[in-house]
Amino acid sequence: MNNQFAQWDEKLIPFYKRFPVAIVEAKDHTLTDIDGKKYIDFTAGISVVNIGHCNKTVNDAIKAQLNTISHISNIYYIPQQAELSELISQKAFDGKSFFCNSGGEANEAAVKISRYIGNKINSTKNKLLSLNGSFHGRTIATITLTGQDKYKHGFEPLMPRIDIVEYNNIASLESKFDDDVAAIFVEAVQAEGGIRPLSEEFVAAIKKLAKKHNSLVVIDEVQTGIGRTGKNFGYQYYDIQPDIITLAKGLGNGFPVGAIHVKPSVAEQLPARLHASTFGGNYVAMAAGIAVLNLLDDKLLAYVNKISAYIVEKLTDLQKSKPVISEIRARGLLIGVDLDGVNVGDVLLALLERGIAALSAGTNTLRLVPPFTIGEAEVDKLIEGLAEVL
Ligand SMILES: *Cc1c(COP(=O)(O)O)cnc(C)c1O
Repeated sequence: MNNQFAQWDEKLIPFYKRFPVAIVEAKDHTLTDIDGKKYIDFTAGISVVNIGHCNKTVNDAIKAQLNTISHISNIYYIPQQAELSELISQKAFDGKSFFCNSGGEANEAAVKISRYIGNKINSTKNKLLSLNGSFHGRTIATITLTGQDKYKHGFEPLMPRIDIVEYNNIASLESKFDDDVAAIFVEAVQAEGGIRPLSEEFVAAIKKLAKKHNSLVVIDEVQTGIGRTGKNFGYQYYDIQPDIITLAKGLGNGFPVGAIHVKPSVAEQLPARLHASTFGGNYVAMAAGIAVLNLLDDKLLAYVNKISAYIVEKLTDLQKSKPVISEIRARGLLIGVDLDGVNVGDVLLALLERGIAALSAGTNTLRLVPPFTIGEAEVDKLIEGLAEVL
């Protein structure tokens, strides 16, 4: 057993409460730790490595790019940015992109754009709405948007003019929506918040009120995007057209790439010098993103849905003998299993001992977000492990 953890802890700010494991190698959905022990990966590095660890196509694209040019600056044209934007347009909606490096940054850019456009309409149109239980990042603006107090505590004062609406509660939405709302930020499925999809009625109400009050709809697709839900983007389960989507996590399959993609009617209101990023849109990031989106085809999405159905079927079977499983919620390979009366952290540790890496979400939800390479044999092992642990 490796005993260097305490030594490493001496060097690092203790922001993370880590599992006592160091994963040093990974391929597809198999992880190897520093002692050579193998794990089946149901984390995908928190919904990032969707295409699978060390995917050859993505890695070859990155390596080739590294040997050509890795970074210059956005003061020059970078042709691959237009290529990646076109791929996002094909899979989402016709629009224009700005590239950054993370989900938090993408949402920050969306906050700035929303405020900018609102303030141009009139000086009080700068209120932002978001939902309780949401997660939008760790910057000051994005923790204010995030509808969970645990991320905000100690950082006051937070951003002014952000109001939190009750998730899936139309009366709450109506009570907070007025002409001052510049934008509403939502996730199609609250991921960190416990795998909670928005209801169709709630999304219809957002669409109606945003139109009535001339407000932007920003959909945070950082975790639900890039095929995770079994469609290219999570909002595509609903009858809604966002004005802005924000992307990161799966976009680079592990290489840091963030993006915002906006409708042309939004883009045309945004002048030069309004926003910028030194690293955003660099050649290596674009090579990774382009390779990922080219791999994300209908066949892969069909597989995501097929293996998702298999996991849900097996979990539902298990539920019959394990009543601690109170609810199973799945959209593609974004799967939540509510556990009643047990500590999810303890379950994760016990699974890890059995060679299975998984996540938690919300307060008592086991979160399963494997790479899309996962197969039935690995799912069977998960179910076996869960049966033992529960
Ligand atoms: C992870 C996540 C973020 C934050 O992304 P970072 O890259 O960690 O800044 C924002 N929104 C959602 C929905 C996320 O899941």
